[in-house]
Amino acid sequence: MRLPELVTQLRDVRPANPREIISTWSEKDVLDGKVVDAWVIIFRTRGCYWARKSGCSMCGYVNDVAIEVSPEDLETQLDAVLARHRGQPFVKVYTSGNFFDEHEVFPEVRRNVLKALGGRCEKVLVETLAHLVRREPLEEGVRLCPKFEIALGLESANDVVLRHAVNKFWGLKEHVRAASLAHEVGATVKSYLLLKPPFLTEREAIEDVVETAHAVDAVSDTISINPMNVQRNTVVDHLFKRGAYRPPWLWSVSEVLRQCRDLRAHPKSHPTGGGLRRGAHNCGTCDRSFLGAIEDFSLGLGDRLDDLACECRAPWLDLLELEGLMQTSADVHGLVRGAAPVP
Ligand code: SF4
Ligand SMILES: [Zn+2]
Repeated sequence: MRLPELVTQLRDVRPANPREIISTWSEKDVLDGKVVDAWVIIFRTRGCYWARKSGCSMCGYVNDVAIEVSPEDLETQLDAVLARHRGQPFVKVYTSGNFFDEHEVFPEVRRNVLKALGGRCEKVLVETLAHLVRREPLEEGVRLCPKFEIALGLESANDVVLRHAVNKFWGLKEHVRAASLAHEVGATVKSYLLLKPPFLTEREAIEDVVETAHAVDAVSDTISINPMNVQRNTVVDHLFKRGAYRPPWLWSVSEVLRQCRDLRAHPKSHPTGGGLRRGAHNCGTCDRSFLGAIEDFSLGLGDRLDDLACECRAPWLDLLELEGLMQTSADVHGLVRGAAPVP
């Protein structure tokens, strides 16, 4: 079976109330060089158009799609979430899809969201696929928000990786076009890159994301390295349960950040599920110290990456050599240890 079909076969769509947001919380982020509270809002929409057609191999958002959400439903979600603002100066808006897809976030709703959040917060970030970026909505964002940023999920600059590992059919060219347009109208750009798509060895994954970061440096203000987090009912989950995939080591995340110190843009990483079996992890003993150092580096609170140490560095280094020799990206250590299949 081909990757585009497999993605849809593994999907498990959950029932949901179109008048309720998916989630909201507060987290730390950087605004004008200072660490501040950032307000995250995930609106429920009909979801990503690409997920409805096929979807990315690692994307669990595909499980949130397929319900229809009207403009009135979205306005109800907006009103409800505004009451939960606690003065955070930075707001990040996600939709399990694309803020600039007019079939998903209708133009009048988009305007109301930007107006309401831009009137309360110093900076508003929205996420969208690069090929959906047009001048008009960008100008609207810049007009309605004191600071406006778009987040673009490129994942990799390598078309082979995108097509055969991620199941995306657009890439660096669209990313550069969208990012340049954003800068032209006065918005800033955050590039999301994926560390360790399926079928890549640990070493290939490090090289791919470092190369990609340098390829988009000139058109990015922030570069977010997102280590794979295995989400349920995805192709990656399918491989993971069979011992054919291991999320990246935290050693790899820190190595990538070390090799991104020379970037002009601000490199960062907030590993979702870090330290857990489905997220980036090391041996278990040192995970907490790695996550602390990665967080501090990302927030500009100090660079302790060179001081990280643990006995599990040796097996990680072995893996970087072994996988290439064995020509496999399977979870070699897990298989050698005879790890029980994951539920
Ligand atoms: S483009 Fe984003 S939301 Fe859409 S399927 Fe891919 S990862 Fe999921
Ligand atoms: Zn360790």
